[in-house]
Amino acid sequence: MSTTSNTGSTSASGETTLPWDPVVEELGFPKDPDNLYLQTVMTMLKAAEVIELRHRVKIILAQPKNEIMVHFPVQMDDGHHRLFKGYRVQHNNALGPYKGGIRYHHDVHLDDVKSLALLMTMKCSLVRIPFGGGKGGVKVDARSLSPSELMRVTRRFTAAIANDIGPDHDIPAPDVGTNAQMMAWMADTYQSIAGIGGRANDAMRVVTGKPVEIGGSLGREKATGQGVVDVCKEMLPEIGIPISGMRVSILGFGNVGGWAARIFQDLGAKVVAVMDHTGALRNDEGIDCNALADHVRDTGGIAGFENNETLTGSGTRSGHGATAISDEEFYKTPVDLFVPAALEQMIQEKQSEWLNCKVVAEAANAPTTPPGDRVLASRGIEVIPAILANAGGVTVSYFEWVQNKSNVTWDAEQVDRELNRHMVMAARRTNLARQRYNCDLRTAAYIAALEHIGKVYAVRGIFP
Ligand code: NAD
Repeated sequence: MSTTSNTGSTSASGETTLPWDPVVEELGFPKDPDNLYLQTVMTMLKAAEVIELRHRVKIILAQPKNEIMVHFPVQMDDGHHRLFKGYRVQHNNALGPYKGGIRYHHDVHLDDVKSLALLMTMKCSLVRIPFGGGKGGVKVDARSLSPSELMRVTRRFTAAIANDIGPDHDIPAPDVGTNAQMMAWMADTYQSIAGIGGRANDAMRVVTGKPVEIGGSLGREKATGQGVVDVCKEMLPEIGIPISGMRVSILGFGNVGGWAARIFQDLGAKVVAVMDHTGALRNDEGIDCNALADHVRDTGGIAGFENNETLTGSGTRSGHGATAISDEEFYKTPVDLFVPAALEQMIQEKQSEWLNCKVVAEAANAPTTPPGDRVLASRGIEVIPAILANAGGVTVSYFEWVQNKSNVTWDAEQVDRELNRHMVMAARRTNLARQRYNCDLRTAAYIAALEHIGKVYAVRGIFP
């Protein structure tokens, strides 16, 4: 239960936790301050207010254009059928086709998908790629399914949304719980049933993050982690933290966290603490992130790494000097940089109090709650926001789409160079907005994104 007034929304405990905006009243938003979509919209509206964005653009951006929900049956390996729920939210396409990942998670809800779709609109605008924002998901624990069940879920979900996606309309990609193999199944299914006027090969452009063999881009798998590092390389030295020798802790060791960890390590940083859904590890001398990535690939999580013998490229290693630690100890480990790369809303007030870092780089989407954000600000901890820090994934997805559309293949150096250019420019745009409006980095990144969208709407106008 919560209440609202013009000045704020109030949680059940009676604490005012979010500023309020007339637009959320006008559009009849849910009043729960813990609601992720409300939090995301409020963050966007706060920046919109600073630049006096037009009311019509604010109301358009406060709700997605389309919210698609499907239910589809899939036969399990034992012969029985299960019904699954899937989502595709198309937030905005003023800048170009809808673009955003597909998440497989047992706890996916419409409001989460709406938030992630809005973040995609902001991200694409901030890095200036001609895509709009979308996101999708299936309510399923991917780890509980066999590979053939996963394939049938993916193909059936693709069939259920086939009329709503398309290579020039809405282009999914991997996210939490999905990977290149699932993108291959999506592309193959879409091509088989959609055809798009005989241009069968072009249909494969319907998803990015595909395996390289079927048109995926070199560098896409590591792109989000690489982008996190590129932004940190641009911003951290300016605030007195050189990358080489820097101490890092990482929450989540999947695609994004695992790649960011390895790339930071290659640049001379020490990854001293890691946590995922299976446990937490610490090694003040630096965890061997290549060996840890091999261990996660083989076992599904970081647990047990401290005891294991792992065969690496350089021979057999044992123990790795890492110690299993508690969640609390993980957050309290002294570091220069903390990288949340797991799920939303994990950095709440308690975790923000525990953190012992100078900077947070949000590799995950919306990892910090507004109350958590306030604690970090009060402690002088700088936050590089998700729409900037993790925009590398969608940027290389755009490169993949461009390569597919023009039948060319870029080499890895070209991908890395172009990615770096986009990330550095986005970081500079954010820094500039911060100086101009004297605000925090999160508001500055939204301002840099919204200014572009505002100009696009001013030029295009609103139909009719
Ligand atoms: P992934 O499925 O590969 O990895 C998720 C990680 O989070 C795993 O290590 C998992 O163990 C960990 N995790 C899950 N629940 C946890 C919990 N309760 N406590 C601790 N750890 C937990 O997913 P990913 O693709 O690496 O995505 C991670 C984040 O980055 C998400 O917020 C995603 O939306 C965002 N993101 C991903 C991409 C991409 O290209 N994959 C792009 C932009 C943003």
